[in-house]
Amino acid sequence: MKGSARCDERYPFMTCDLHIHSTYSDGSQTPGEIVDEAIERSLSAIAIADHDTVQGVPPAIEAARGSDIRVIPAVEISTEFKQIDIHILGYWIELDNERLLDKLLYVREARKVRAEEIVGKLRTLGIEISLEDVTQQSDGVTLGRPHVAQALMAGGYVTGMKEAFTRYLGRDRPAFVPRYKLTPAEAVEAVLGAEGCPVLAHPALGVPDHMIEALIEAGIEGLEAYHNHHSPSNVRRVIGIAREHGLLVTGGTDSHGPKGSYPVRVGDVDVPDECAEGLIAWAEERGVARP
Ligand SMILES: [Zn+2]
Ligand SMILES: [Zn+2]
Repeated sequence: MKGSARCDERYPFMTCDLHIHSTYSDGSQTPGEIVDEAIERSLSAIAIADHDTVQGVPPAIEAARGSDIRVIPAVEISTEFKQIDIHILGYWIELDNERLLDKLLYVREARKVRAEEIVGKLRTLGIEISLEDVTQQSDGVTLGRPHVAQALMAGGYVTGMKEAFTRYLGRDRPAFVPRYKLTPAEAVEAVLGAEGCPVLAHPALGVPDHMIEALIEAGIEGLEAYHNHHSPSNVRRVIGIAREHGLLVTGGTDSHGPKGSYPVRVGDVDVPDECAEGLIAWAEERGVARP
């Protein structure tokens, strides 16, 4: 039934999906599989926005060659401000921009570097666990103190998670190492430096209003209103803030594939085509509509 979805009554108007994760981060579908699904559902445009990497973009562009699907280059950068996780989407970024790639590598490596430092401190305390013991406890994408705690439990050094934190891993404890993360402003700057369009991802998922205002000050050009975890009232509110500030409105499923803890298929959130059109117009005005 390829190509027939446009006439399907379930899809009365054209939609796009500007926030999709692939196997290049923690998604379960390859860029090629995502493009196939997007073609099947007659989406107008998609963006692979993997966590802290742009490596899934070229294979998606390649897979979409000769089809009607527009692949917009993207990335989703993990940042933190005052212990709140904030995700910054970057559209149209230059894929070979060295400063951006350095920042992304830094974010990806920071988790491992921190775990290494924690293990180093534990070893000076006479605890013989290795980084490998810790990574064995992880799914390969996330790596943090809970995995160190599990390794401590597996080694018989503590009896539970709580003891691991109160004795070794908690703030002010002997094996504590602060977390390295980019600030949202650094991520916005990196996206702008790569001629990209910085957009605040899923603002209704825990980003306080005053922080949204601060991010707009920092150079955010758009807000992600449509999202799998945004309620209809969230969507309306985010669109209202975007209008008030003259910002772009974007949206996507944030699909990590049809399996996993939050299964959602590519194209399952109705994101009006105007969202992709707005982004494309933004890029054309600046002469950065790649590819
Ligand atoms: Zn996110
Ligand atoms: Zn995401």
